[in-house]
Amino acid sequence: MAGRGLRLPSAPEREQEYGHDALVVCDNLVRIYQTEGIEVQALQGLDLLVHAGEMIAIVGASGSGKSTLLQVLAGVDAPTAGRARVAGHELVDLSRSERVRYRRDVVGFVRQQAARNLVPYLTATQVIDLPMSIAGTPRRVRAERAAQLLEALGVTHCADRRPDQMSGGEQQRVAIGVAMANRPRVLLADEPTGELDSETAQDVFAALRTANRDLGATVVVVTHDSAVSGQVARTVAIRDGRTSSEVLRDSDAHDALVEEYAVMDRTGRVQVPREFREALSLSRRVRLGLADDHVQIRSDRDAGETP
Ligand code: ADP
Ligand code: MG
Repeated sequence: MAGRGLRLPSAPEREQEYGHDALVVCDNLVRIYQTEGIEVQALQGLDLLVHAGEMIAIVGASGSGKSTLLQVLAGVDAPTAGRARVAGHELVDLSRSERVRYRRDVVGFVRQQAARNLVPYLTATQVIDLPMSIAGTPRRVRAERAAQLLEALGVTHCADRRPDQMSGGEQQRVAIGVAMANRPRVLLADEPTGELDSETAQDVFAALRTANRDLGATVVVVTHDSAVSGQVARTVAIRDGRTSSEVLRDSDAHDALVEEYAVMDRTGRVQVPREFREALSLSRRVRLGLADDHVQIRSDRDAGETP
């Protein structure tokens, strides 16, 4: 027993730090906004791992912190506390110039407002060219890449059109092209189908899938749209600035629910869904029991009977 508390982890154990093999790691992420003396905790210790090649949906009520999370991952906003790492970049430590390069090369971003993703006086080809031009990509490579992206995203017919000559869905598909121009590792989309009818939303969703499967981006898409979240392999729910549950599906079987998980943070906290709490009147204090292969949670009401 001597020295038990002092045992140092062996090398392989040390490598097993939280999210060591994930492309996106959020570790106890906190973002507090201060406005006129009022403090809003937009993220309250959020944990999230996304592995390379995944496409996940993030769902949650309005105000639950979804956009804040995406802004942090995009390198636009800085967390108040906690860790965020994307493709090996620690987002808390980025210098100004590293941040500029991170936003240009490592992540792509698509906003809900289609018009804000594009430039009114630039054609689709020109606006996709822009980020590559800023990155110093040679002209001929840029032209080829722009044409390839327009084709992959099904908007070749928009090549010479400006935004006002495109539908909302076409604008969003071109916006995905802009976001993918510099071959980012991660594509972030904040309610990209929020302003579209359901049929057009399907086209935009298909374009996100193309970005994931054919263009090699790991995709994180925030959505209200259950038709969209129903089509990805993993849906993560955010509540009050924390990840609260995850649903895994068979990636190609629409709506084939495989399993629903609650997320346990590293201190062991789990959110019990409201339906469960209400069904058994669980509140404030519950009794926990350890069985061979599961943990029981019981109402505290008959606690007096325990010896
Ligand atoms: P969601 O995208 O899930 O609707 P947000 O991330 O936009 O949620 O917002 C989470 C919380 O943070 C909300 O209470 C919102 O009012 C607040 N919030 C977001 N951005 C700011 C800001 N720039 N200043 C102050 N409060 C903000
Ligand atoms: Mg939002």
